[in-house]
Amino acid sequence: MTAVSELPLSLALPVAREGAAVRRTVAQWRAEGLRVALVPTMGALHDGHVSLVRLALTQADRVVVSVFVNPTQFGPSEDFAAYPRTEAADAVRLSEAGAHLMYAPTVEDMYPPGFATTITVEGVSRGLCGDRRPGHFQGVATVVSKLLMRAQPDVAVFGEKDYQQLQVIRRLVADLDLPVEVIGAPVVREDDGLALSSRNAYLSPGERAIAPHLHRILVEVTRALTSPETEAGTPAAVILARGEVALRAAGFDDVEYLELRDASTLAPQAAFVRGRPARLLAAVRLGRTRLIDNMAVEA
Ligand code: AMP
Repeated sequence: MTAVSELPLSLALPVAREGAAVRRTVAQWRAEGLRVALVPTMGALHDGHVSLVRLALTQADRVVVSVFVNPTQFGPSEDFAAYPRTEAADAVRLSEAGAHLMYAPTVEDMYPPGFATTITVEGVSRGLCGDRRPGHFQGVATVVSKLLMRAQPDVAVFGEKDYQQLQVIRRLVADLDLPVEVIGAPVVREDDGLALSSRNAYLSPGERAIAPHLHRILVEVTRALTSPETEAGTPAAVILARGEVALRAAGFDDVEYLELRDASTLAPQAAFVRGRPARLLAAVRLGRTRLIDNMAVEA
């Protein structure tokens, strides 16, 4: 276990680099009767991540936050090398938020030579980001399985910001009987509606001005989908097509998807049905940046 050297002493947060160190610390806490939460992240922490830590603190006595930019969930043409890495600042944020341990493994520790196992979650991984980012959810499911095995937490907290990922993890935990409770945390947004994301740092000032229209249009589409006239028969496809036109008009360069899905199975929904929770999910491109967002569709 090492401390991040740049930290002032008062803020020193223990940092574990190896799975064995995390397992030892968590085992000790559990032997003392303490409940332990894990919050997996890729670092470049913002207030969205901090909200997960705060939620975890309401659910457990000790909170472990993993910071690992996982290479296996990035495609060959994606931003793995450029992904922001701000470890010292992350440790300060986590310490201030009240986390108890940062777990920042190396790639070699996570995937030693000879590593050959991949976890595939069928069904919920299909469509949406699963189609656009082949192999992404396999990488997520594999690394989250390893993090859960290593940390052995009582509870793990994930954001609804990555809604399909949350459903993939719920399925994984249920199917493999993993002894952990999965909790979803609401999306944290800027005042103008833009969902906080480490990738927002990529946006130019012009793109940053366009970005909040994604949330605005999701709100409008959700309203249209749940309005009484729509319930009388307009198919979701018509409203979604209008939403896609609005996104392009707002300045997004591409709309990868804008879809209405069942809130837990993510099965496509031809129309919103009162009393059946649904989710509106979108991915758009703005210059070289890919933004995702989603909203509950309920009435
Ligand atoms: P990431 O570091 O992007 O992999 O995200 C780590 C965790 O933080 C995931 O469970 C995300 O869903 C969650 N997260 C990221 N951004 C937000 C946000 N704006 N609001 C809530 N949770 C978030």
